[in-house]
Amino acid sequence: MREDKANTTRPYHRVVVKVGTTLITDSANRLDLEAMASIVGQIARLQRDGAEMLLVTSGAVAAGRHVLDPTGQTGNVLMRQALAAIGQGRLMNAYEQLFDWHEVHVAQTLLTRRDLSDRMGYLNIRNTLLGLIKYRVVPIINENDVVSVDEIEGDVIGDNDTLSAMVANIVDADLLIILGQTEGLFTSDPHLDPDARLIRKVSYFTNEIDALGGPSFDSRGRGGMSAKLNAAKLATASGVNTIFASGSLQNVVPRLVNGESLGTYFPTGANRMESRKRYLLSQIRETDVIVVDPGAVRALVQGNKSLLSAGILHAHGEFERGDVVLVEDKDNRRIACGISGYNSQDVHKIRRLRSDQIGQTLGYHFGDEVIHRDNLVVLASPEAAHV
Ligand code: GLU
Repeated sequence: MREDKANTTRPYHRVVVKVGTTLITDSANRLDLEAMASIVGQIARLQRDGAEMLLVTSGAVAAGRHVLDPTGQTGNVLMRQALAAIGQGRLMNAYEQLFDWHEVHVAQTLLTRRDLSDRMGYLNIRNTLLGLIKYRVVPIINENDVVSVDEIEGDVIGDNDTLSAMVANIVDADLLIILGQTEGLFTSDPHLDPDARLIRKVSYFTNEIDALGGPSFDSRGRGGMSAKLNAAKLATASGVNTIFASGSLQNVVPRLVNGESLGTYFPTGANRMESRKRYLLSQIRETDVIVVDPGAVRALVQGNKSLLSAGILHAHGEFERGDVVLVEDKDNRRIACGISGYNSQDVHKIRRLRSDQIGQTLGYHFGDEVIHRDNLVVLASPEAAHV
């Protein structure tokens, strides 16, 4: 449970829902508005009840194919990029109208592998998604298929299962729900084996579990069970509980978010704070340090606040916006580490200044915080604030 939401009875508060192509299109690749309306209704109600919802959705390529090739005569020769470019607008338009009906605002977010692996891109994406959540807007996320091509190795994320796990990690979600056509993970392919049993809970990834992945059963989406299992691995390793469930089950999303046991549950063994700390610590370069005054130490350690320019005494090293830096007090004690929103030259210029002077000093403004509390982990014990 999120510490800051401990007063709500719902076990999950920030939730990423992933919806695959087959769930929201028919066999002619047409968007299935009825299926979309059902999922949108579930997400919108939860959002209006106070949960923080994000939707990762496929369907752009299929929707584009429906436009260019309604009779399916071309086989698969049409360019995936072109199809995605045509279909993404239609997909988004449908979602926008459906969410509008519930008076919930949405925002299109298209991501690429390069954006996510680039430090600055990662920071910008995280800030944008957290900002949207704060404004009570539902981000609707897809891979930017137009700029990622299969032909360049490592260029595409490729399947939205993996993308959904990356997003869940970036926003520190409590729960990732991967909706598919089957009820969850089975002991064998339920389409072929009448004795196939649903596995209710997977606490560890063993070779036996990995072997259940197999190839995709479905020709239109890209994922398949092995992509889903990889996504579950990625998400649970970064502290996000994951559930596979059937998208056609009545009211499945609210039921899961409210703690009902359906589908296959992958509890996370990792503590989100610990994994973020590990990640940040692994990125530190000892030479990149921001030295802060006692007031800032107190604000960080006791107040759980962001680091503001006013509390900064100096900065050492050369770092870029998006780099992880150490925060130390004037006696070289480690107070925290976090992702700097400004590069080292900027930090030199804005140290000791009030946040409202940043814009006029630099000529631009990436936000009031030099390190936002969402991107910061305190390393010092509470006593550090008393010295
Ligand atoms: N991004 C692709 C689309 O919108 C789907 C990828 C997937 O099927 O996982 O069509």
